[in-house]
Amino acid sequence: MPIAILTEDVIARIAAGEVVERPASVVKELIENSLDAGATAIHVEIAASGRQLIRISDNGSGILRDEIELAFKRHATSKLRDTDDLERLVTLGFRGEALASISAVSQTTIVTRHRSEDMGISLKMNGGTIQHNKAIGAPAGTVVTIENLFFNTPARLKFLKSDNTEKRHIQTVVTRYAMAYPDVRFVLKQDGREQFRSSGGGGLADVVAKVFGIDSFKRMVEVESEEVGRGGYPQINVYGFVSEPALNRNDRSRIIIFINGRAIQDTALTHAITQAYHAMIKSGRYPMGVLLLTMPTEFVDVNVHPTKAEVRFKDSNQVFVAVQRAVRQAILSFAEAPINHDEWSDTGFTNDYIEYNRQLNMPMQSPDFGRLRDYGNYDVADDNADLDYIPEGAGSPDKPRTLPLLRVVGQVGAVYIIAEGPAGMYLIDQNAAHERVLYEQLSENIKANELKIFSPDESLSVMLSPEDATLLTKLGDEFASLGFEIEVFGPNTFIVRSMPHIIAGQAINQTLPQILSLVQYTNHRQQDMITAIASVGAVKSGQILETDEMQALIRQLERCPSPYESPSGRTTLVHMSREHLAKEFGRS
Ligand code: ADP
Ligand code: MG
Repeated sequence: MPIAILTEDVIARIAAGEVVERPASVVKELIENSLDAGATAIHVEIAASGRQLIRISDNGSGILRDEIELAFKRHATSKLRDTDDLERLVTLGFRGEALASISAVSQTTIVTRHRSEDMGISLKMNGGTIQHNKAIGAPAGTVVTIENLFFNTPARLKFLKSDNTEKRHIQTVVTRYAMAYPDVRFVLKQDGREQFRSSGGGGLADVVAKVFGIDSFKRMVEVESEEVGRGGYPQINVYGFVSEPALNRNDRSRIIIFINGRAIQDTALTHAITQAYHAMIKSGRYPMGVLLLTMPTEFVDVNVHPTKAEVRFKDSNQVFVAVQRAVRQAILSFAEAPINHDEWSDTGFTNDYIEYNRQLNMPMQSPDFGRLRDYGNYDVADDNADLDYIPEGAGSPDKPRTLPLLRVVGQVGAVYIIAEGPAGMYLIDQNAAHERVLYEQLSENIKANELKIFSPDESLSVMLSPEDATLLTKLGDEFASLGFEIEVFGPNTFIVRSMPHIIAGQAINQTLPQILSLVQYTNHRQQDMITAIASVGAVKSGQILETDEMQALIRQLERCPSPYESPSGRTTLVHMSREHLAKEFGRS
């Protein structure tokens, strides 16, 4: 369809926000445009990690002469007309924002010729203003050149990381699209050197071998499964490659998932893949793999986040199960893998596994699912130190005891801790108790002016809803006093440079909205905010804990001023006296 400006009501329905964060985001948006234009060859040329030059050339449809200026207007798109179209999107783009946003913060030149026209056009813009628009001879297709990115937005320039980091981000974007579109030829050149090339010959295996290296690829197995739709559920196809158990890493950055040709980040699905290796890989290690999932467009909502990196499924369990089954089937072919058969038969990963988690009331989308820890970004450095849930220095002995010395006996349902004390048995709600402990810790640190702050190696950007963004702005000082360093980045988008230590292990793009929603209806006092942070930072129900972790938690609870209640007023522990137990068993 022709390019046109979206109507107000459609605009209102589209997830809004800044999409141009760094050179790699420009590369991503432009590659998506080339793919949407049906290109079979896409060349990416970069100079100075994208700060100086980003050039994407494609052999796609090109843009009509009459439409070129419109293409650079905000909300101008040829891919969407009305809100119903959102349900059946087959294109990667649909917001009509990228060209407008990119050209506003750079010097942009586009040379394009539509297949149906004899002459091409060259359009040059500076910070969003047109410099020239002239006819020019050009091959069919489009070349977009971005020079001096962010020359007029110093805040974003400042946000950029080292050259190597930015280059790595660009490489990640290009190689991911090359894997998702094996029949398109991708070439990436950085500073004149060819860094990556895919053949466009159509095989995922070829591309995966190039991206992961042939040695790794030899240790991967093909995943192929088709879930036939039943009970109105979608048919989900899973195709890809996953590593043998012995080939694993200490982070999740090599678990790559595509839904209908879109690279997405989904904590639950990543977890589904990792869980399929249960009892084959040590905890804290992760497999590698690439999975291309396809399902009917109406079963997945891509209009969740402006960068389109997150999706929402109509039925996430269905997808979770399909992925887990497919991966598990594939890795079972590694006969030599040391499989712990007891664990396999007990906690198989079919529906039983899901049911089990449901009973624990564990949200599938939670970043704290199982022992999962995430910094919110998939490409943070490989050397993420595993943070312990229950910090050290547990139960500082200089504080008065409020509970007797307790000995941990075990954990029930991954929700309660059983402990024994001189006066009988204690059942402790791990989540409520940890909330109490973190609340005390943070309050004390603030009082003593010894706030422990965590600054991630890479500042993280967080997109908020307009309401949350307003609240965050209003509570700016309060957040700062709790150790958050947050800067405005773009519309509803913020950069988080630091946060209180107790939420360091969490995905900030999820925790910040959670904190805001928890304080929303309070009086916004500091203690309300501390309660919210403690609640987000606390170990979740459903989390299996090691004995020493439980013991550390109890040690700290034993010296909390009010150990019987969480800061939000929930019961933390139930005591069954020796007398009570004796009576129950008719021993008295
Ligand atoms: P969106 O992709 O969401 O539609 P963009 O701002 O990225 O928004 O692009 C605006 C429009 O410009 C697209 O809808 C498309 O019609 C056209 N366009 C952009 N890049 C290309 C390209 N490489 N080849 C052909 N058409 C393009
Ligand atoms: Mg686009």
